[in-house]
Amino acid sequence: MSAPKTIFQKIADQEIPAKLIHADELCVAFHDIAPQAPTHVLVVPRKPLPRVGEAAAEDQALLGHLLLTAAKLARDLGLARGFRIVINNGPDGGESVPHLHVHLLGGRALGWPPG
Ligand code: AMP
Repeated sequence: MSAPKTIFQKIADQEIPAKLIHADELCVAFHDIAPQAPTHVLVVPRKPLPRVGEAAAEDQALLGHLLLTAAKLARDLGLARGFRIVINNGPDGGESVPHLHVHLLGGRALGWPPG
C-alpha cells in the first residue's frame, strides 16, 4: 500500500490550491504559511522524496535544481543583502512535513546558530 500523499505532494499535484511563485517540470515554490522571516519560501520537488537523507545518486540533478531555483527566487525576490537556505531532516532536524522541501529565508538579519 502506498503512503498517503503529503500536503506538499497535493500542492505540487494541484489537488490543493496554492499561490505558486514558481513552477517547472521538477519543482514548485510557494510562500510558507507560517513565515519565520519577511520572505519565507518553500521549494518543493514534484517527486515524492521524503527527505534529503533518503535521496539517492539518481536525485543529484534534482537536488542541484532545487538549490539553483531557491537562489534564483532569492534574486527575483530582492534578497540582495543575503538569505539562508535550510533543509530540515528528521525529528531532531525539525522536519514536520515528510516531503523534501528547501526553505528560503530572507528580508532580515538571521541569527546563528539556529535554535
Ligand atoms: P519543516 O518543519 O522543515 O518540515 O517545514 C514545514 C514547513 O511547511 C513549515 O514552515 C510550515 O509552516 C509549512 N507549511 C505547512 N503547511 C503549509 C501549507 N499548506 N502551505 C504553506 N506552507 C506550509
